[in-house]
Amino acid sequence: MSNIKCSVNNCHYWDSGNICQASQILVTSDSLADPAPDSLDAPQASSVGATPVETCMETCCKTFVERNSSHLYDDQITRK
Ligand code: SF4
Repeated sequence: MSNIKCSVNNCHYWDSGNICQASQILVTSDSLADPAPDSLDAPQASSVGATPVETCMETCCKTFVERNSSHLYDDQITRK
């Protein structure tokens, strides 16, 4: 997924040049993501309902996981 650019450089999937190296990502609303478990991610995207927002401030990358986190493998996402 090299077409995704991201500056969150403490993410496990971040790579130099601000490139996201995740196999897939899920962008959703903060209101859905905040209470959701780490296991909810892009593989479940087709079952996630509509999450309209009014500004970009209300969205997030649900795939983010901090480098060296103990939750790296909770969501079936792989690093390319
Ligand atoms: S998974 Fe999300 S936060 Fe992490 S590098 Fe990719 S786009 Fe950025």
